[in-house]
Amino acid sequence: MLRMGFDIGGTTIKGGLVDDDLKLVSRVDRPTPFGDAGLLCDSICAMADELTRGTDPCRIAGVTVPGSVSRDGEIIDAWNIGLRNIPIRRMLEEKLDAETVIVKNDADAACCAELRIGALQGVKTGLMLTLGTGVGGSIIIDGKLFHGGLDRGTELGHAMINRGGAVCGCGHRGCIETLCSASALKRLAQKACQERKGMIYSLSERGEAHDAKLLIDCARKGDSMAVQLFDEYTDVLSDAIASFVNILDPQVIVIGGGVSGAGDFLTERLKAKVPPRTFFGSCGSIVAAQAGNDAGIIGAVME
Ligand SMILES: [Zn+2]
Repeated sequence: MLRMGFDIGGTTIKGGLVDDDLKLVSRVDRPTPFGDAGLLCDSICAMADELTRGTDPCRIAGVTVPGSVSRDGEIIDAWNIGLRNIPIRRMLEEKLDAETVIVKNDADAACCAELRIGALQGVKTGLMLTLGTGVGGSIIIDGKLFHGGLDRGTELGHAMINRGGAVCGCGHRGCIETLCSASALKRLAQKACQERKGMIYSLSERGEAHDAKLLIDCARKGDSMAVQLFDEYTDVLSDAIASFVNILDPQVIVIGGGVSGAGDFLTERLKAKVPPRTFFGSCGSIVAAQAGNDAGIIGAVME
């Protein structure tokens, strides 16, 4: 039986049909509308129509939100798509042709996918950080996703790491997200461009987007400025991970989101930098996410 999943990102809604083996059988994308829940629901319904054309209706639909979600499917705060206190599950239940609508935080959905088909299979205590536009974080305890004591989930990306630092999208200052997201790496790349230095600047002059990927690519090629910036970034990220290791002592730490595309180039640095920063001087294994780019869609439909 097919299920339909929708992964709402800051810029794009990724939709797809998922089969019983959690394989994606079709895909469709649409831009994410900002600050308009009605328009967002309309977009998801239009995508659902497109996906299910010629197939039986799906009994289950799953939606991920880039923000905090209550247990009863209300968006508490998703500032990066301009929505607060929205009963999104109820709205979609009224509009979508599905018996069950599941709504969950996007990082939690990615973590669910890792638990079933990725790096967290069989893990009792785990941690996943999703490094994308923001920083999402999920915790596995007793082999299950931890929903928080008050059912609001966990917001690891908004733990403070730099008192008095840059203002975060959540309104506080110095959150992990301000220093460890893909957006933070992009800001470092932009700074290098403004200073007109190094390979980052010369490649961006040739039309390459000055984003996190460009900085990582230049560091991989050995450009000294890019390596220095990537080392600064992984230093702060390692501080953050070491703090979570001290709290949770996870068996496995999974790094997901766009930055995890750096693969071993990232995880080898973290494996060297995190252990000496922890209380124990050691930590569980650190690996890149394995459930793939569509983990959000797959995780969305998992009950
Ligand atoms: Zn924050």
